[in-house]
Amino acid sequence: MACRCRICTSSDARDQRLRSAIMLTHEERNVVIDSGPDFRQQMLREDVRTIEGIVFTHEHKDHIAGLDDVRAFNYINNWRAQVYCTEQVGEALKREFAYAFSDKKYPGIPEIDLNIITNDKFNVGNLTFTPIQVYHLHLPVFGYRIGSFAYITDANVIPEEEFEKLKNLDVLVLNALRREKHPSHFTLEEAVALALRIGAKQTWFTHVSHQLGLHEDVDAELPEGMRLAYDGLRLEVSL
Ligand SMILES: [Zn+2]
Ligand SMILES: [Zn+2]
Ligand SMILES: [Zn+2]
Repeated sequence: MACRCRICTSSDARDQRLRSAIMLTHEERNVVIDSGPDFRQQMLREDVRTIEGIVFTHEHKDHIAGLDDVRAFNYINNWRAQVYCTEQVGEALKREFAYAFSDKKYPGIPEIDLNIITNDKFNVGNLTFTPIQVYHLHLPVFGYRIGSFAYITDANVIPEEEFEKLKNLDVLVLNALRREKHPSHFTLEEAVALALRIGAKQTWFTHVSHQLGLHEDVDAELPEGMRLAYDGLRLEVSL
């Protein structure tokens, strides 16, 4: 908002970004990772009719703020939102959406069930998620591996012992905020070095700031097998 830089005013649709989130579709069932402030807009854009679960990476507002809008899925599908998150994220959700968790249920509030996860595999429908513990400065964040695909957003540290979970990936999505050093996000240079070390067949960078530059320019300078992700990007992965 309010920025008139050449990225924010670019006519290339790939320069216009909503907050970071992904949706996994398997056997016509959808699981969302994070529901940020743009959740509603993203669900409408992709014409999503049903979701089976929402898995959270961490409790920052740009990843949870849209949770209230699960109400539409509550009504239409008679479905209580199945949320998967750590104890710490669950506590934050109860603070941020206190009305949804209060004993006195006001009509029309979102209906949410918290499924508390730890750093152990868990299932949402028929998808198996392997959490990857990463850190966003000091804040614990979960990346997730599903089959040959892994998604790591909002991090600047991956502990050594978690690299084991990142072997033999076909597709890795990794956060690369900008070029300048940042206290809690990987820079593009750090993300490229990590992507080389992890060695996925394809790496896509996400959670990109306008400060990184024009999509077209940045994408063209990346090493082979690495690309800049954009809103609406669809990838096929094997489980
Ligand atoms: Zn800008
Ligand atoms: Zn964050
Ligand atoms: Zn974020």
